[in-house]
Amino acid sequence: MSGVQPYDIDSLKVDPKPLLDGCSERLPCETCGKKTKFFCYFCCKAVAPLEGKIPQIRLPFKMDILKHAKELDGKSTAVHAKIVAPEDIDIIIYADACLRNVDPTRTALLFPGPDAKDIADLDPLSFDRIVVIDGTWSQAKGMIHNNPRLQLMQKVTVKPRKTRFWRYQNLDESFMATIEAIYFLYRDSVGDSYNGEYDALMFFYKYFYDFIQSEYAANPEKPYHSKHQQGYIAYDKAVPSKNPRPRYQDTRAKVNYEFDELGLDAVFDQE
Ligand SMILES: [Zn+2]
Repeated sequence: MSGVQPYDIDSLKVDPKPLLDGCSERLPCETCGKKTKFFCYFCCKAVAPLEGKIPQIRLPFKMDILKHAKELDGKSTAVHAKIVAPEDIDIIIYADACLRNVDPTRTALLFPGPDAKDIADLDPLSFDRIVVIDGTWSQAKGMIHNNPRLQLMQKVTVKPRKTRFWRYQNLDESFMATIEAIYFLYRDSVGDSYNGEYDALMFFYKYFYDFIQSEYAANPEKPYHSKHQQGYIAYDKAVPSKNPRPRYQDTRAKVNYEFDELGLDAVFDQE
């Protein structure tokens, strides 16, 4: 989208590198035993050496992140928020009854559209929590269609920013990764007085972003795959791949491919 600017990821008041660089091994999750790097996507828990060391913050309002049951095995950046702000973020598996204790008149739903208010314009006294749907667009629409509570909620949105997400998107690039949208919801809710209070939400995201950027800067001969956004990898000698890989229909396969190459877990949001 022209006119939508990327945000300044370097100025975030968060420095994940010293801690996470020291944790290069995949370690078993203490709860489920699955080997993982940094944290378990399923239990939303840091691996033992990181326990007590990841920044922990409180947020000005609660958030429920609704996951579609079909995406349970998906690795989503929404988990970053739960690990950094466990007291205020809940990840909930969507079911018809899952919001029965939520007052829809006091809850806003992150969902862009003509009837959505910018978070900056929403009276902070008018809501106690925000629901974020973490799934594909069609899953999100299906959930809203089937759930009268979701339909009753005031829709809210954030100002578009160009995503820093490191995968090819066949959507408008102002579609953000879930953690970016969550972060900007909190940041924009504060307005001009914001002073980095919620930057820790981007702790893992910034690390993965910097990691991939430096990986490419150190290996300028690395083929520039078509799935990267144009201009995304900021080094001078970007060479287009002679044999670009197919643009996978399946986002997961596409991103896992890249992360397998880099030895990292995939981090992606579902379209
Ligand atoms: Zn686990």
